[in-house]
Amino acid sequence: MYDVKNWIAGQEADGSGTTQEIVDPATGQQVGTLHLGDTATVDRAVQTAREAQKDWGLSSLSKRTQILYRMRQLMIEHTDEIAGVITREHGKTIADAKGEIARGLETLEFATSITQDLKGEFSANVSTGVDAHTMRQPLGVVAGITPFNFPAMVPFWMHPIAIATGNAFILKPSERDPSASSIVARLYQEAGLPDGVFQVVQGGKEVVDALCTHQGISAVSFVGSTPIAKHVHDTAAATGKRVQALGGANNHAVVMPDANVEFAAAQIASGAFGSAGERCMAVPVAVTVGDVHEKFLEAIKAEAEKMVVGPGSDPATDMPPVITPDARERVIRMTDEAEQAGATVVVDGRGLVVEGHENGNFVGPVVLTDVPRDHDTYTQEVFGPMLVVMRVDNFDEALELVNSSPFGNGTAIFTGSGHYARRYQEEVQVGMIGINVPIPTPVGYYSFGGWKDSLFGEYHAHGPEAVRFYTRQKAVTTRWPHQDEHLESSMSFPTH
Ligand code: NAD
Repeated sequence: MYDVKNWIAGQEADGSGTTQEIVDPATGQQVGTLHLGDTATVDRAVQTAREAQKDWGLSSLSKRTQILYRMRQLMIEHTDEIAGVITREHGKTIADAKGEIARGLETLEFATSITQDLKGEFSANVSTGVDAHTMRQPLGVVAGITPFNFPAMVPFWMHPIAIATGNAFILKPSERDPSASSIVARLYQEAGLPDGVFQVVQGGKEVVDALCTHQGISAVSFVGSTPIAKHVHDTAAATGKRVQALGGANNHAVVMPDANVEFAAAQIASGAFGSAGERCMAVPVAVTVGDVHEKFLEAIKAEAEKMVVGPGSDPATDMPPVITPDARERVIRMTDEAEQAGATVVVDGRGLVVEGHENGNFVGPVVLTDVPRDHDTYTQEVFGPMLVVMRVDNFDEALELVNSSPFGNGTAIFTGSGHYARRYQEEVQVGMIGINVPIPTPVGYYSFGGWKDSLFGEYHAHGPEAVRFYTRQKAVTTRWPHQDEHLESSMSFPTH
């Protein structure tokens, strides 16, 4: 048993006095206690951040870069420790936890090139003797609010770039798996980051609302479910903040008749059941086009049935538990409801028991087909190990089905045809597209973001868009007349 607290001004800090259990999803047992912050804790963190940011925002770019390089090395040295706590609190496999740390570090690596990314533009003689240049400045204090499913990677989408651009950053991690962020806070300190530049406030709705409304915070980055993303966007924007709020998803993978079906099924199984389907870039819907349907069902059934379900700490495990007993019940209930509505259960994960882990949140992979188009298992984000296979007759119907979803996070097409692949990337209303790639999560030096109900705000996360999100631009026009020079001034608008 351990305690997880807030991290303010370079040390652990008590919060409201309220605590919450941290539970291992593989055993159902409490492993730790989270000490929650409140509105007063947020205020303390903001006051500290404001003071720290004054110097940090003026620090040299090379100093910032050197601290980020040290942080990268420390993260690599502590990968096993961080992956261990992620597996214990989230449930995912150790290999998957290490994978998310590595993907998070891509963003930190991108942030080390801030010396390039903060270069402004310069034009000499925009008018005779007049020059123009631009410069980007930090916003001040910015906040990040993150979901349970990537306790390391998603915060890393935010803080390295926010810090590299000269801001102070306050993180509110998910209350389900908060420990990784506490380790990151200590490592930033060890890397030489001044106290107060990176802080953590633990909590739930009260802390989120306090961050969204605090006048001392200039911008909020959010990643989580669509209803909360919309709430955060509207609340933070109403108090004049810049907001990027990434929401939920219901990603479709289209399987064309000319696809390599075995390859597509293996890739879609990894997208649907990896991390028990708890990824915003998971693939919960496969759309089979034409006569590929039966062959695909056979292949995906074989893939699903060979999944080893077990605790994330067991190297033999392919698919870990889901996050809570409620998440498990939801998958089982929705499978029941789909069956009652006429769906065919091709693979049934409902009865699964993992020996020795009877109190864990385990459910096996579920594959459904013949699901009515208006049924919740197709229209909602289930966020569990469930794949719904929808059948259409041709490419245009597949495109229409994908584009009718209110979500637009990610999608994939499996095909051997460059013609259809190209049409798909042109015509699909989705932010991130994979061509024969099931989880098209952009690398850290590109930006990540969906369309429609998958993102509220103008900016995507990490990469070049994050540099713009965390900075404001100034355009400066300069003239240096000699003190003896006589320059005529005109009352009309300057036309150069
Ligand atoms: P969530 O929306 O429940 O929680 C996200 C954050 O919001 C957490 O920090 C939580 O404490 C806070 N929160 C929860 N309820 C709140 C409320 N009523 N008011 C204010 N704040 C509240 O999401 P989750 O269950 O932690 O994560 C899963 C969701 O996140 C899925 O919908 C998934 O698709 C989405 N997600 C999206 C992306 C993306 O890039 N688009 C990435 C990862 C996860």
